[in-house]
Amino acid sequence: MKILANDGIDASGKNALEAAGHVVITDNVAQEDLPAFIHQNNIDGLLVRSATTVRVDLIDQCPDLKFVGRGGVGIDNIDAAYAREKGIVVFNTPASSSASVAELVMSMMFASARFMYASGKEMPTSGHDKFGALKKSFSKGVELRGKTLAIVGFGRIGQSLATYALGCGMKVIAIDRSGESSRNIELQINGQDISISVPLVTMEDVFAQADYISLHVPKQPNGAAVFGKAEMMQMKKGVVLINTSRGGVIEEDALIEMLNEGQVGMACLDVFVNEPSPRADLIQHPKVIATPHIGASTAEAQERIGLEIAENVASIVSKLS
Ligand code: NAD
Repeated sequence: MKILANDGIDASGKNALEAAGHVVITDNVAQEDLPAFIHQNNIDGLLVRSATTVRVDLIDQCPDLKFVGRGGVGIDNIDAAYAREKGIVVFNTPASSSASVAELVMSMMFASARFMYASGKEMPTSGHDKFGALKKSFSKGVELRGKTLAIVGFGRIGQSLATYALGCGMKVIAIDRSGESSRNIELQINGQDISISVPLVTMEDVFAQADYISLHVPKQPNGAAVFGKAEMMQMKKGVVLINTSRGGVIEEDALIEMLNEGQVGMACLDVFVNEPSPRADLIQHPKVIATPHIGASTAEAQERIGLEIAENVASIVSKLS
């Protein structure tokens, strides 16, 4: 098959696909030029990450595509139901990036607890002359040990995060739609298997108990927010909010208001409503730690994603033949 990996693909996936006899093109074709490129080059399969969108118009213009694959978790940049109606296989790589996103969340919590984000910005410019003043401003850190982390959305990433947070001595509670009252989390520490039960609680419990709240839900129906002003007002004063799931699950206007009022102590954000041009007043806010949607962007996750893509393509080929 001829495959266009329009947003790039890790060498692991490219090599595995080529070893299986496929041709992999890694040109980054502009969105508006995709239909012509796909026709002219007889492309059978299109691979995307988050930059390229595969909407109804592209699907209609490329009826010969056999598959569209997303290297990543959500498929909200693909009109998947419509593509499937047209006989195009749509797949993603849901399991490959959980640990990487979980580690980003841990790094955000540590960065907020010890002012790493601000110190990292101010030490290079003021550390030589104003060491004492900076030491004073960044001396009110806290430990994560003993703090309560609420994980909202207890799927793959949420559960992976729980293993890290439990390992750091945090108290972990979670909320999901599963209806269970608790879920066992399996940890492997120094070769020993340990099973720890994490309570699944109500939103009221989350608001009353959590020092840190991390969101791991998919994009909500109609882009609805999980947390707006009404929810944030019920949280503990000074709560740290973390969103590495999808832009919009925290209402951004309300978040800025709550940060300004001190109700939310800090927000750590990897995802934004208006990607790739997030609003400046949010990413420049002194109480915001912002990263440019890099949750899955580690060498290890990209390697696993590449291999998962190659496995998916192999399975499609075997079904077609
Ligand atoms: P998952 O499907 O394994 O888990 C999501 C869980 O959220 C499910 O258990 C579901 O029941 C629960 N849920 C849905 N709506 C809820 C709500 N309103 N309240 C409580 N629970 C709710 O998904 P995952 O693999 O853990 O991924 C979670 C999110 O992370 C997705 O939005 C995905 O797009 C995002 N993600 C981001 C990055 C990044 O680069 N920042 C990388 C990978 C995934």
